[in-house]
Amino acid sequence: MSKNTPPLSNRPDNAAPNNRAFASSLFLLLAWLFIVMAVVVRAPRKDRVPYSQFIEQVESGQVAAASISSQQIVYTLKPLPDLAPVTADDAPIQRITVPLQNDAELPGILRSHNVEIEAVADSGIGRFFGLLLPLLLLWMIWASFSNRTQGGGLLSVGKSKARMYLEGSSCVNFDDVAGVDEAKAELQEIVDFLQHAQKYVSLGAKIPKGVLLVGPPGTGKTLLARAIAGEAGVPFFSISASEFIEMFVGVGASRVRDLFEQAKQQAPCIVFIDELDALGKSRASNNRFAGNDEREQTLNQLLAEMDGFVPNAGVILLAATNRPEVLDPALLRAGRFDRRIVVDRPDKKGREAILAIHAKDVHLAEDVALDKLAARTPGFAGADLANLVNEAALLAARRDHAAVTMADFNEASERILTGVERKSRVLNHVEKRTVAYHEAGHAIVGALMPGAGVVEKISIVPRGIAALGYTLQRPEGDRFLMVESEIRGQLVTLLGGRAAEEIVFNRLSTGASDDIQKATDLAERCITLYGMSPILGPIAVDRSQSPFLEGYAQPRRAISPHLSEAIDEEMITLVEEAHQMAVEILIRNQDVLEEIAQKLLEEETLEEKALKAFLDKVHSPATLSTWLNRDAETLPQPRIYSPEEPYRETAY
Ligand code: ADP
Ligand code: MG
Ligand code: ZN
Repeated sequence: MSKNTPPLSNRPDNAAPNNRAFASSLFLLLAWLFIVMAVVVRAPRKDRVPYSQFIEQVESGQVAAASISSQQIVYTLKPLPDLAPVTADDAPIQRITVPLQNDAELPGILRSHNVEIEAVADSGIGRFFGLLLPLLLLWMIWASFSNRTQGGGLLSVGKSKARMYLEGSSCVNFDDVAGVDEAKAELQEIVDFLQHAQKYVSLGAKIPKGVLLVGPPGTGKTLLARAIAGEAGVPFFSISASEFIEMFVGVGASRVRDLFEQAKQQAPCIVFIDELDALGKSRASNNRFAGNDEREQTLNQLLAEMDGFVPNAGVILLAATNRPEVLDPALLRAGRFDRRIVVDRPDKKGREAILAIHAKDVHLAEDVALDKLAARTPGFAGADLANLVNEAALLAARRDHAAVTMADFNEASERILTGVERKSRVLNHVEKRTVAYHEAGHAIVGALMPGAGVVEKISIVPRGIAALGYTLQRPEGDRFLMVESEIRGQLVTLLGGRAAEEIVFNRLSTGASDDIQKATDLAERCITLYGMSPILGPIAVDRSQSPFLEGYAQPRRAISPHLSEAIDEEMITLVEEAHQMAVEILIRNQDVLEEIAQKLLEEETLEEKALKAFLDKVHSPATLSTWLNRDAETLPQPRIYSPEEPYRETAY
């Protein structure tokens, strides 16, 4: 659904005539070769002889004249008197030989035999071409490479490849961006800086030089920048940081220079660098591998340029990244990218607004309620929502609907969450039973957990790459913080599938592997990141977490084997306890487990309403709450809040 802005003044794109350029280089090469050959082969009457023969001939008085250069000696033989009549073309016979280097005696010998000597300077035409040819070849290889690698041809290698948008040429504006109101307001302020610079300058304020948009992928950072291009009423240069780096050393730096030169000429204007982390990674993080000089040089040039323009020159540098934590500290210091605007995932209202933007051109059926759709998609970024609308429209088209219905949207969101339904994957009877009990186990355990939301649907129709069945639980709303009992609850829910298989079939299957993976990850995070282990206490074993990229591997602190062992033990204990808890819950609710599984085998999917009748009968064992909240002794007694009664939130 993205709208592409046509670049206004762009460098000519050389991609198409590439082949022709290559053919003409080849032709040129052949032509030069031909000329050089012609020059070298020109004198047919010159015969090469060994140097010794030349000296012999000199000494026997046969040589009339010799012209000597450092490359060769061309000499003429005296016409032999007894060989008359001379041949038709009576030019004297010429011979050539290669001179012996440093033969100091040669001039003496020649003189003593009355040979006419001529010294030839070295700039013979043949030598000239001889030198030129390899250069020419090199140039052609380089040219054809640079042609292919960047479509800019040889001469524009050092030029910036920024696209420039002139005022109003972008067809995206602020109305096309929703759910990020704070970011929009801040950017509007920036636009105001440029448009009414005088107001700020006369008050003595310095206009910021650099503004950094940070946020998770797909939240609309690039889109916001494009909207500014449409709104600001000033020229807008846009480039992706990776475009600075080319195969040639030094190109990045000169592109940065060129970009800023252009920008300064167009001031007031905005320069936008997308995915800044490609260029601005911390220099410290790389010094073990010396391979990144080029990026470093480019970064240095960028820093220098940012310092180079006076604060109120009217150039504002805008950049976007989803990994602010890896950026070089020098980029972030005051006077450079000192303003940071967070573009975060939208809340429910924001999601509704984004859905409305993308559904604008889609024919919606009466029953579509965008607010309901927004409610069931927490965690979706703008790009996911755009994708959701598009998937729903595609589904509606495939089903020949006249308009996109709510059912299409539901199916689309399930597809995005769990993958495409795979009716063609036929499970045998045993597999089906295993999956049915497994999913029923998840549903029962999940229904008991605090803050986990409503079980919306369970299904034993295979989906996506790996899922043989799935349980969808709708979160109650947007969450920005989780308490420990909820995380522990998640652990138990994840292991509910495996536990059900164990108690019903008394054997293990591979079906739980994804759950186990997730549970292990979660348990590890509890201990190494959230500081929730009673034994280790609030210790972070992993270094700073990437705030916007979930699950992005971070380097682990240097820890002792002792601590490492303790972590392993804690992890295993936590997972095992959660597993025991799940088993206990399901044993207490075996009758409901049986009912749900049977119903699932009959109907394949169960929706919220049908499920509710079963799940209402589920009761939780007394130990559950104790375990979720960890028994009180392991936590220090709260003293500040209420000395009599431990502070504990129980209502969700
Ligand atoms: P980012 O640069 O943050 O990774 P993009 O700006 O490239 O994300 O967003 C990709 C697409 O997702 C956009 O072209 C747009 O269609 C949609 N999108 C993302 N965020 C929003 C938003 N806040 N409002 C409307 N559409 C959005
Ligand atoms: Mg982007
Ligand atoms: Zn499972």
